Order: sequence, then C-alpha cells, then structure tokens
Amino acid sequence: MPLVGNLIGEDHVNYVLMYNMLTGIRIGVSRCQAKIKRPLTDEDFTARHKFSFDIVGNELTPSAKYDFKFKDYAPWVFRTLREDFFHLDPADYLLSLTAKYILSELGSPGKSGSFFYFSRDYRFIIKTIRHSEHKFLLSILKDYHAHVQANPHTLLSRFYGLHRVKLPRGRKIHFVIMNNLFPPHKDIHETFDLKGSTVGREYPEEKAAKNPGAVLKDLNWINRGRTLELGPEKRALLTEQLRRDAEFLKKINVMDYSLLVGIHNMQRGNRDNVRKNTLKVFSPDLPETRRSRAMQAKGGSKSPEAIAIRRAMRSSDPKRLGKHTIRLPEEDTGDRQQFIFYQDEGGMRATDENNEPQDTIYYLGVIDILTPYSTVKKVEHLWKGLQADRHKISPVPPAEYSDRFFSFMKAIMRGGEGGAKFVSE
Ligand code: ATP
Ligand code: CA
Ligand code: CA
Repeated sequence: MPLVGNLIGEDHVNYVLMYNMLTGIRIGVSRCQAKIKRPLTDEDFTARHKFSFDIVGNELTPSAKYDFKFKDYAPWVFRTLREDFFHLDPADYLLSLTAKYILSELGSPGKSGSFFYFSRDYRFIIKTIRHSEHKFLLSILKDYHAHVQANPHTLLSRFYGLHRVKLPRGRKIHFVIMNNLFPPHKDIHETFDLKGSTVGREYPEEKAAKNPGAVLKDLNWINRGRTLELGPEKRALLTEQLRRDAEFLKKINVMDYSLLVGIHNMQRGNRDNVRKNTLKVFSPDLPETRRSRAMQAKGGSKSPEAIAIRRAMRSSDPKRLGKHTIRLPEEDTGDRQQFIFYQDEGGMRATDENNEPQDTIYYLGVIDILTPYSTVKKVEHLWKGLQADRHKISPVPPAEYSDRFFSFMKAIMRGGEGGAKFVSE
C-alpha cells in the first residue's frame, strides 16, 4: 500500500463526501467531547445523534457548504474507547482529522468496494463500510468494548468512531475511523496481509517486482521464506495476545479477517521516501498545531481544548484557501508507547533468541474484523451463481477460521514449524 494516496482537492469526485464526513466529525465529536466525562450506561451503546447541516445553519449546527445529514453512533462509547483504552488525546484526534480538510484517498484496495482515506498526518484511517458491517459493529459493540477493556494490548483494529453521512439524494454512507497500523515516519518496505489460507492467497511475484508497495499474501510470505523474527519474550507475548484475539473473533462469529504485517528494515531506513504532496485546500479556522500535549481534556471552559472546540463550532465558513504541502513527521509521535506491540517507533522491533533488538521493525494488527459468517455465505452464493468457473471461495466457519488463523500465526514465528509446513494440507 503506498503511504501517500491521492490528496482530495475541490475538483475531486469525492470532495463533497470528504467535506461532509469531516464536518460531521468536527461537530459531532466536539459536541460529545465538550461535555464532562461520565461513566457509560447501557443506553450509550444504542445511542445515536442526528445532525442536519445546510448552508444557513442553526443553533445546533453551523452553516456548511452543502446540505447533508450526519449521524453519530454511540458517541460516548467511542469516546471512552479513544480516551480510556486507546489513550488518544481528545484534542489531537479532532485536530488531526479536521483542523484542515485534507484527506488522501487510497481508493478501494480490497475487493469489498470500501474506500480508505488517511487523515492528513496519516495517523487515522476512515474506511467506508457496508450497511451490514455497520449493523454488525453496533451489534458487537458491547463485546468489543469488554474485550478491549480486558485486553489493553489487543491487536484488533482500533475503532475510534462510527458515523453515517446522508447525501441529499438519499445515498447513505457508513464509515468507521480507525488506527493506521503503519507509521507516518517510517517507510514500510514489505507488506503482507495474512489469513492462514492458501486458496488464491498469492500476489503475482512479477507484478510485485514492479510494485514495491504491493500488499503480499500468505503464499508470498511462504515462498519468500519470511519468519517473524522474535525472541522468546516477544514471541510469548504476541502468541498469547493473538490467541485471545482469535478467541474473541471466534466468539463473535466472524471470518475473513487478516493479520496485516508491515516490515521496516532499519538498515534501509527511509531512503525511498516520497512523502510529499501539494494541493489547494481550505482550512477551517482551527489552530492546527498539536498543542494538545498540554490540553488533556479537563473540560474547563478556559482550557485550550474548549477554546479550540468553540472556535471550531464558530468556523462555519472556512475561507482560507492556500497551497498546502503534506510533510510527514520524521519522528515517532510517542502516542503508542504504552502498548507492548506498538512501543518501538509505533511498532514492534525484532529480537534474537537472547531478546536483543534487531534491525527490523514490525507493524502488525488484525484487520477487517466485521464480516460475520452469514454475510460471507451470501457473497459466496452470489459469486458461484454469477461466474461458475471462478476460483471457488471456500469460506470455513468462524471456529475453524480462527483456529487455522492462530495456528498459522504461531507457525510463522521463529521457532514455529514455518508457514510452508502448516499449509501443506
Ligand atoms: P476485502 O474485504 O476485499 O479484504 P476490504 O475493503 O474490507 O477488503 P481491508 O481488508 O480492511 O479492506 O483492507 C484492505 C487493505 O487496506 C489491507 O490489506 C491493508 O493494506 C490496508 N489497510 C486496511 N486497514 C488498515 C490499517 N488499519 N492500517 C494500515 N493499513 C490498512
Ligand atoms: Ca480483507
Ligand atoms: Ca472486508
């Protein structure tokens, strides 16, 4: 996956969508954030707040460039997830996403038709999801919350928000905001999306040679002879966390998820760096720097955060238009330091058998976890009906998927049996 997608300027087809998503987030999230923190209730899990935007504006929503509706789902639950479990600075989150209306679009890297957008500092990803995925996330939100609470070091996707934008002609677009597993300040030299299955799990090596950013799959991992180089300590920790996460995924009855692995070679460093892009954007009247280290949400009316939020609310008519250059940081932002698997430059450094650090950093996490078995079954039917000779998709039930996934992940660690042995079924 290339680090830099296409920046969305005003002439981009999805500009309006981006504008509406970010405006909704800016207003919805700051509304919730401006209130004094309180413990969660059962109702918070089913709560939804509606906002109606138009060019005039009213006391609840400032005027916007376009007419659209925005829905914020379970805002208090996501606030708790962000602040208490994922240790995100509340103001940072809002500023990263909405201080300037800049996103870059990755288009649709998967088969699902989802679109991916990066926040301008590449810390957050907005993924458009199907209505079924949206309903599913809401249905497991309580379990997810409990799992994250019990497993502060979980490798599962970190969901920071769930929203919906409704455009005038009635098109509804659901999206989640989640963590970008890959760091803004380090090149990723190799990327793998691993499921523990071999059927159709190969990216053609000839194509990979021409496209170094390609997302490789299980068979490429095996054929390239890769292993996760981890000493006994990290191996034990990672295995245990993967075991718990895979158990959870089994319990909520999903499949088709994968372990995304990004590899940074420290010898190679950032030599191939192409992290710059320029385009015209406008910026709402928000302070754009990260002043938030000092802004831990105190809720005090004079806190810089409260001031920023009030300003954000007032800035209904973004006017500044200027050339903006995206320059990504050279250093770790330090916000993942408390997480075992993300503490070395935002990832996990390889270690040898004596647990001594090596020159590789892994960036890994379990992604695409919102596909219940029933949905896959339906999709399979469709495929089979439409193109009979197409490569057969053979979904296995969630329990089997989870066991196979976990066995594969154990096998690819140093000291495991190796992926090749594992897949020769
Ligand atoms: P499909 O259902 O066809 O697999 P999808 O649209 O559901 O596709 P995902 O599997 O979630 O998409 O992701 C597709 C690719 O996007 C991944 O292989 C990975 O390269 C990138 N990606 C997804 N989530 C993240 C993340 N949190 N951090 C970094 N990269 C990600
Ligand atoms: Ca996927
Ligand atoms: Ca998917």
